[in-house]
Formats: sequence, C-alpha cells, structure tokens
Amino acid sequence: MCCNENFEERNKGEKIQTTLDLNDISGMKFFDPHIHMTSRTTDDYQAMADAGIVALIEPAFWLGQPRTGVDSFTDYYSSLIGWERFRSSQFGIKHYCTIGLNSREANNEKLAEQVMEILPQFIFKEGVVGIGEIGFDDQTAAEEKYYRLQLNLGLEAGLPVQIHTPHRDKKKGTQRSMDIAIEQGLAPHMVIVDHNNEETVKEVLDRGFWAAFTIYPFTKMGNERMVEVVKQYGSERIMINSAADWGISDPLAIPKTAALMKRSGISLADIELVTYRNAITAFAQSGQIDENDFTAVKNIDQSQKFASNSILRGGQQPRIDKNSIIIS
Ligand SMILES: [Zn+2]
Repeated sequence: MCCNENFEERNKGEKIQTTLDLNDISGMKFFDPHIHMTSRTTDDYQAMADAGIVALIEPAFWLGQPRTGVDSFTDYYSSLIGWERFRSSQFGIKHYCTIGLNSREANNEKLAEQVMEILPQFIFKEGVVGIGEIGFDDQTAAEEKYYRLQLNLGLEAGLPVQIHTPHRDKKKGTQRSMDIAIEQGLAPHMVIVDHNNEETVKEVLDRGFWAAFTIYPFTKMGNERMVEVVKQYGSERIMINSAADWGISDPLAIPKTAALMKRSGISLADIELVTYRNAITAFAQSGQIDENDFTAVKNIDQSQKFASNSILRGGQQPRIDKNSIIIS
C-alpha cells in the first residue's frame, strides 16, 4: 500500500494526454510474453495486431473452473500448440506457449501426479518456449513439491521457466520462489519471475533473474507505476506483459504502456527493451524463437483451416475493414 500512495503522489500534477493514439506507437512492434488468448476473442486478436503486437506467449494456467481429470489437461495443452496457435496466425500474430501445471491445481495431488506424467509429451513440441506458469499461489507444501519437480523438468529440458509469484504475501513468496529455483540448480538467467512490483523488483534484478511485470487494471501494477519503475531501474532484464485472461484485464496493456512511456520521456531504446526485446532474449534460450517467423505469419489467409475448422463461420468472408460501421 505504501508504494501505491507514493506513486500516485509522485504522478500528481503531471499532465499527460490519456487517450491512446495508435499514431504515437506506429512503427513500433511489441511482444507480449504472458497472455491467455484461449480466454480472449477474435476482436482482441484484431486490436492487438492493429496496435503492433507481432508475437506472444500463452502460458498454461488455471481455467477458472478446476479440472476434474487429466484428459482436460491433455486437451488444453494440445489446444495451446494447435488450435490457439492457428487462431493467432489468422491475425498475423506469432503464437508461442509455455507448458506446465499451474500452482492452484498443484494442490489436487492425485491429478497433479497424472499431469506430471504427461508434461514430457508436450514440453519438447515446436513453439514451446518454456515451462510455465508454475510457482506459488497459497504457498502450500503441494505447490512447493510440484514447483520443484517442474523446475527439474525445465533444467533437464534446457528450457526457461516462467514463474507466477503469489498475490498474497508477495515479497516472501517471490524470495522463496527464487531460493528454490537456485536450490534446484537453475541459473537465474533461465528464470523469468513474473508479477513483480516495487517491493520485489530490486532483489529479483540483483540476483540476476528476469523481472516481468503484469500491467493490470485495478490490481497488481498500473502502467503509471511501471513508468516509474523503468525510470528508477532502467530497462535491463525487465519486461512487461498483459497477463490478459478471463478476468478484467487489457490485451493492449503493452502498446498502451509503450505510449505512456514515450509521453513520459523514456527513450525509445528502453521502451523497445521492456516491450519487445528482453522477452525475446529470455525465451529464445529455448531455441524455439526465430524472429523471421514474426514476418512469415503476417501472410494471413483467414480461409485457412486447422483440423478442418476455420475461424470463419459457415459462408463468412474473411474480415476486411474493421472500422466500417457496415456489418454484412
Ligand atoms: Zn497468467
């Protein structure tokens, strides 16, 4: 709470135009390393493409509704590397994913055991850029057990690990997440610590980990606070993401924050690092990211099919002009 108040205080009196003008960020390209597109619409994909998002990472996570069987995990992981990747490609956005057992469902130990058995079938697939998102939610013993097991999996597979840090007791949870990663033998540069705030960032950076920030409306980090973080800590090993999912969230969080950073006087080089380059550098350690693919995916043909399915409804024409008020 202390930090929230400080940052609002500091921002008082600054006059910054608050409407998003895509012209501000035209020509810039963005990489969202944490977004759950399964829960988002085709309108979101279109808006993201229009705002310059060229590639994204969709971490495997909790669906809101607890799963009751391992087959739900199998189908979900399959959709992340199959149908969702295809859907994204139809909007010219390169889709990657991380695969893992989320912290909440690690608490269903019977199911967690079965999920651990199927993970190796998925983590070596093309376009899987890490193990994620894993870590602590309630900081239970079961969460720790499956967090450690999955860190081992990442280590053995040579994949980066994407860590979800808890919302409650965040500082302690973040320290513990890093301590355990080190204990399990991971090098800090292979670990992306997510959902940082002003309380955690210094230690995460000092210890050599990547520090990711989720820009969320109302909770976690607002983007005015993010501007202050970059002013204070610079751009090295810092990245931002939207973590947009089925809750209230904003899939344009990165382009909007880039626009705000630009208006706040942060250099274009720093903006590029935190909204694009650092995420690529971190996750390309998987050997699965080739920036040429960002351009290749641009040749959109919305009439393409995946497993005999297209994103077009029967007889629909591919979308042409989203700004037209005529819906035909
Ligand atoms: Zn997430």
